[in-house]
Amino acid sequence: MSKNIVVLPGDGIGTEIVEQAVRVLDCVNEQHGLGISTQTFAFGGASYDQCGEPLTDETLKACQAADAILLGSIGGPQYDAAPRDKRPERGLLRLRSELGLFSNLRPAMLYPELADASSLKPELVAGLDLMILRELTGGIYFGGPRGIETRDGQKVGFNTMVYGENEIRRIAVSGFDIAMQRNKRLCSVDKANVLEVSELWREVVIDVSKDYPAVELTHMYVDNAAMQLVRAPKQFDVIVTSNLFGDILSDAAAMLTGSIGMLPSASLDIHGKGMYEPVHGSAPDIAGTGKANPLATILSVSMMLRYTLKEKKPADQIEQAVAQVISDGVRCADIAGNETAVSTIQMGDAVMTALHNS
Ligand code: NAD
Repeated sequence: MSKNIVVLPGDGIGTEIVEQAVRVLDCVNEQHGLGISTQTFAFGGASYDQCGEPLTDETLKACQAADAILLGSIGGPQYDAAPRDKRPERGLLRLRSELGLFSNLRPAMLYPELADASSLKPELVAGLDLMILRELTGGIYFGGPRGIETRDGQKVGFNTMVYGENEIRRIAVSGFDIAMQRNKRLCSVDKANVLEVSELWREVVIDVSKDYPAVELTHMYVDNAAMQLVRAPKQFDVIVTSNLFGDILSDAAAMLTGSIGMLPSASLDIHGKGMYEPVHGSAPDIAGTGKANPLATILSVSMMLRYTLKEKKPADQIEQAVAQVISDGVRCADIAGNETAVSTIQMGDAVMTALHNS
């Protein structure tokens, strides 16, 4: 069956890194006869420059019709002066919300050879491979009532952390499904000792677990989870948590790896359709210099094959090719340390060679 992928290179280094990721996608498509076709659209600042809108109706429609979306990165200082509703970030927020992408997957993985890049001791993080699943469209960021008002003569600010049973159920299902594709261990992070909303969270997660007897479910309070992430992060396989807790924990986990150019991410809808993108931004400071590391975007392609297209073999093959180039000592500037760095294109070439040899 043919699969239609929308490619949104975006701004800054986005075009450079996506070019290499599309080479990799084309390669496994051909090798495995996946029937994938791609269509590229301007998005973010590039779209604003062309059409005056960061997300046009045409691009939105194409994304809605696609099986999956591969995004580079958007933004840049030249758009700071644009009207607020025309800024690249607005286009991204609108796209996520129009597509109902409620489940945000952020792996934190560290190839053993790069363990020195972490701020933690190498033995604590070498070989780290954990997945944080953050609920993305509910919780305290969206709940009401919210606001700032004056009560008894003083200003009071307030937000509401609210989750409906169905919202918890669908992110829990997502968490168990992902755990099934990994090492079958799921840790649900909440604050059930203090918050009623967390009490319900835990109750629903336990209920969903009955459909996944093969997955070992544990629960952890968020304060302990933050501590465990920097004490012994390798104890985790998959963490599932709410919007606020996931926002904080996923950034902490990403930083454990110390290599922003290496981290992919995915945001999925209820049907498993997803948008795949590197965790980092458009890096205007190095755009056009050939220094951008394309591996986060290449690994985003691997996630797309695994989680939306259900093509495990080419997904594994890409991850193995990346592991191979890292073990061969090929490094872009962000992970080179004192070693000689290769360019964006040379890194793409190295992955392509590893793919052809696999
Ligand atoms: P950034 O992630 O773009 O850059 C932070 C630092 O990491 C920079 O020094 C950059 O050179 C480096 N870096 C990032 N990706 C790299 C890569 N692949 N290879 C090598 N080095 C890399 O964050 P920022 O500077 O805070 O933001 C720049 C722009 O990106 C802003 O306009 C911001 O709004 C936007 N942004 C977009 C996204 C997205 O598209 N999803 C995410 C975050 C930030």
